[in-house]
Amino acid sequence: VKNLTDKPCELCNSQGGAILWQGPLCRVVLAEAGDYPGYCRVILSEHVKEMTDLAPPERIRIMNTVFAAEAALRELARPDKVNLASLGNLVAHLHWHVIPRWREDRHLPGTLWSAPARDGQAPRAPDPAQLAARLKALLA
Ligand SMILES: [Zn+2]
Repeated sequence: VKNLTDKPCELCNSQGGAILWQGPLCRVVLAEAGDYPGYCRVILSEHVKEMTDLAPPERIRIMNTVFAAEAALRELARPDKVNLASLGNLVAHLHWHVIPRWREDRHLPGTLWSAPARDGQAPRAPDPAQLAARLKALLA
């Protein structure tokens, strides 16, 4: 499957990060983003472009997975804010970003995709094994 940029879809061809939780509809992976430990992505299993391409019960299921990732991150990393974003401009394969944010992080008050505001550091990296266990419990 090709994306808007005419490149093969990397989310069809790879896991997109270390798997924290996997269900039939979607998976939760840990993004490899050094400045933002705990940054998760919720990635749909199928190559689907928009939320409204999903049946209503699937929309609810993927959002509940996003909310579980947000809740697990809040418990384990205690960020100052969580950003939820679904863009898909480069990779038009439905996925949600769940990004813990801190007052002193690199981009605040901008988004992760903004120009950096400072040499920031995220202070509290959640343990991936704990994150995986919490997701499993929340999504059971
Ligand atoms: Zn895809």
